[in-house]
Amino acid sequence: MPIYDIECEAHGRFNDVFLKMTSEPACPACAGPARKLPCAPTIVGPTDTNPFVNEQTGAICHTPQEKRAWERQQAEDGMVVAEKGSNTFIRHVEFARKKADTAAKKGGYDGYDHKNRVVKEEKRRQRTGERRIISTPS
Ligand SMILES: [Zn+2]
Repeated sequence: MPIYDIECEAHGRFNDVFLKMTSEPACPACAGPARKLPCAPTIVGPTDTNPFVNEQTGAICHTPQEKRAWERQQAEDGMVVAEKGSNTFIRHVEFARKKADTAAKKGGYDGYDHKNRVVKEEKRRQRTGERRIISTPS
């Protein structure tokens, strides 16, 4: 339901009144006829200055139309769109985490974090030319 500012001759202006598109506004104070005032429509959804950003896919939408088109495309591609912080997103992160841990363990590491540390350390050694003396699992 759209929101309007309305004005009664006797009681003045009332802001943010819910009205059906077709209904004639009535003054909340006296129930007499009131006048709809022109006001900027309430914008819901992404805008140029406040775009919708999906961090998983890097998608950026600047209008509600762009966002709807993007969501349709995602659905057609069989992808699940999850807003960051949503339960779906958290479940996905946990699932990906377990998968990464399992894969790292198969590779002989204690887990994903350990693998990351070892790989990073190995890269640092290669960069600095330091020789590898001992492997220390955490
Ligand atoms: Zn009135």
